[in-house]
Amino acid sequence: MEAKRAELLRGQPIATEIKKEIAEEVRSFEKQNRVKPCLAAVLIGDDPASVVYVRNKVRACAEVGIRSEQHTLAPTTTSNDLLRLVAQLNSRDDIDGILVQLPLPKQIDDSIIIEAIDPRKDVDALHPTNVGLLALGRPRFVPCTPAGIIELLEQNNIEIAGAGACVVGRSQIVGRPVASLLLQRHATVTICHSRTRDLPSVTRQADILVAAIGRPAFIRGNFIKPGATVIDVGVNKITSADTARDLFGDEAEKRIDAIASRGYTLVGDVHPADADRIAGRRTPVPGGIGLLTVAMLMRNTLLAAKLRRGAY
Ligand code: NAP
Repeated sequence: MEAKRAELLRGQPIATEIKKEIAEEVRSFEKQNRVKPCLAAVLIGDDPASVVYVRNKVRACAEVGIRSEQHTLAPTTTSNDLLRLVAQLNSRDDIDGILVQLPLPKQIDDSIIIEAIDPRKDVDALHPTNVGLLALGRPRFVPCTPAGIIELLEQNNIEIAGAGACVVGRSQIVGRPVASLLLQRHATVTICHSRTRDLPSVTRQADILVAAIGRPAFIRGNFIKPGATVIDVGVNKITSADTARDLFGDEAEKRIDAIASRGYTLVGDVHPADADRIAGRRTPVPGGIGLLTVAMLMRNTLLAAKLRRGAY
């Protein structure tokens, strides 16, 4: 008898549909306003992951008809250099959204830069004004990854109201805002972190388990309630064929080939073969939440353009 396997919740079909809707809205926005929405993406340094993320965001803009401009600054950029650029982008009427790709180099304090961004252009929703609005339950912009997680749950008709939800990770960019969104949708939410005692006994209670930790395959089978929905936010590189064999079950050979040709393959924070055995549904990595994150950034940029012109 073939073993039961978790259903895969893929990001692609939902992201494609959202981008199609956004592209239509961008066209009618342009007709009314004689201008396209515009995103300014700021990349500091040459961190390979950040380079790829910014490239994907700029590409998605082109797909939906949003204008974009990329500002690439040297790894030695100072806080003052970056503050000057942010001030320019704030004051330009043709820029609707500003995205400063994180993490920033060590010499720059993230919070000073985030607080300098005009909150009406803060499409990553990290400015204290936008964080506060979200905490109050009346968000203007919703951070992109958490918004993507909710979209994926809703589009797959996974009931949030009344569900037990556990979020592992309490970052400003994923853990805290997704917990807040789940609570607003009436889940009973537990937030875990590195100081949580006996983590598996807590996560095992959850109908919806969100892992945003940044540790490869950290969530094992004993962390997962049988039949639960597991949302894997993590993006981690692995380079060992033996590790791939342990993690990927019948997908292992494909992943080992990827390691041989590119030097690495990606795994989330959840052990995929374990989750396949125990969970009811899980998001794949890659091909899950990451695709939705980019689609949500497009949504926020369009919303920023509309809000700035009073067209919302
Ligand atoms: P982060 O800022 O590093 O936060 C990690 C969180 O995990 C922290 O709250 C930390 O707890 C917790 N943690 C670390 N080790 C733990 C452990 N052993 N047990 C329990 N909790 C632990 O990370 P992030 O920015 O939220 O990102 C998390 C992951 O998601 C990363 O892999 C990142 O690449 C990925 N990500 C993906 C997307 C996407 O679009 N797919 C977007 C953003 C991030 P403490 O607070 O106690 O330190």
